[in-house]
Amino acid sequence: MGAVNVWTMAEKPTGSLSKEDRQKIVEGKLGLHKIDESLPGKEAVDARREIVEELTGKKLEAIGAVQLDYDAIKNRNAENVIGGAVIPMGIAGPIKVCGDYANGSFYVPFATTEGALIASINRGAKALTLSGGVQVRVIEDAMARAPVFRLESVKDVKEFLHWLKEHEAQIKEAANATTKHGEMRSIRPFVLGNNVWLRLSYHTGDAMGMNMVTIASEAACAYIEESFEKARFVAVSGNMCSDKKESLVNNLYGRGKSIIADAKIPEKVLSEVFGIDAEQANDTNIRKNLLGSARAGSLKYNGHFANVIAAIFAATGQDLAQVVESSSGYTWTEVRGKELYVSITLPSLEVGTVGGGTGLPTQKEALSMLGVQGPGNPSGRNSLSFAEIIAAAVLAGELNLICALSSRELGRAHSKLGRAKK
Ligand code: NAP
Repeated sequence: MGAVNVWTMAEKPTGSLSKEDRQKIVEGKLGLHKIDESLPGKEAVDARREIVEELTGKKLEAIGAVQLDYDAIKNRNAENVIGGAVIPMGIAGPIKVCGDYANGSFYVPFATTEGALIASINRGAKALTLSGGVQVRVIEDAMARAPVFRLESVKDVKEFLHWLKEHEAQIKEAANATTKHGEMRSIRPFVLGNNVWLRLSYHTGDAMGMNMVTIASEAACAYIEESFEKARFVAVSGNMCSDKKESLVNNLYGRGKSIIADAKIPEKVLSEVFGIDAEQANDTNIRKNLLGSARAGSLKYNGHFANVIAAIFAATGQDLAQVVESSSGYTWTEVRGKELYVSITLPSLEVGTVGGGTGLPTQKEALSMLGVQGPGNPSGRNSLSFAEIIAAAVLAGELNLICALSSRELGRAHSKLGRAKK
């Protein structure tokens, strides 16, 4: 990046950042992150942004106008901070959820810049609520980390696999000593030649759990390497986890919450809300979400889970990159008499109500709107309840999309709600 000086920063106050250090930063001899060592939160953010403004020749007033507790963010949520990004937040609902943990009507928050998205989920929510609500069940709850070990030969691999079985209790003990709310539940080995991956699955309470299970897995691996010397610990993440990447392993074994939701939509609701019948919706689902996805070689047999998941993740402080695996899943429909049966399956929904970005102010409020902010009582209850509400919202988005496509109104809705002004 070329240094373009559009206005001089010399007179602007930069707290106790010395003129010399500032100059070094401008010249690229000192990192922008070093400002945090000289100045407290907001002052550091302002000083850094002003230097970036000078270097890029662009005023960053909107980014700088975002009010956040920058001391709280430091060493927790982001580095080299220059301000904040704002995304509009809307709500869809009420949506009636009948889960094991979430029971009642919810207004669900979505942060998005895609016009028509919230309106579409809202219409799906209306149809689902008129139909008696969404049944939701969490069928698995386990976050995975998969360290990889290197052995000398296949002979050692066999010996290692045997040793792991014999020492499962000690491995779990080493991991569990690092956390109060986390607990290692299973160890599943995968082998390729002289390499062994251990997919370690944990219960993580109300946390999504990635930091928690990474720290716990490192402790487990240290124990393994110390006790079985022929196994060399290569990396705590060996990609069989599989974090933030498309993979079959998460679809098969689950990661985070594995969750299913369904509803039966009566003929009257289908015709009054969407202007279609059950046969039309079912035909669209089969040809689009099943056949079309198979023909495309997709791992995602759904219409737009990612739309709903991404907007809820952004609103509630989830890890945005985990939209990748969290939005994997299947939409299934059946015609039952005149009714439409519709279900969604999310094998790896990775969410938490503590940790990560969930403690930031707007994200915290969005979670409290759903009654799931912070630690649950008992531990884990809030994240399970949150996952059930998300699954219901995903079903709403999916139902609406299938029906909008069946009645050929998708393009019309987007041209009305989602286009740039001419
Ligand atoms: P975290 O904030 O790192 O850990 C959760 C913390 O909350 C733990 O200290 C835990 O204490 C405490 N806690 C208090 N009440 C709890 C409750 N009811 N349930 C669970 N924990 C409770 O959050 P995390 O979910 O483990 O990690 C999320 C972060 O990891 C995100 O920022 C994400 O972006 C990032 N991330 C990290 C990696 C990685 O490889 N490290 C990968 C992807 C994402 P105890 O542990 O003592 O129970």
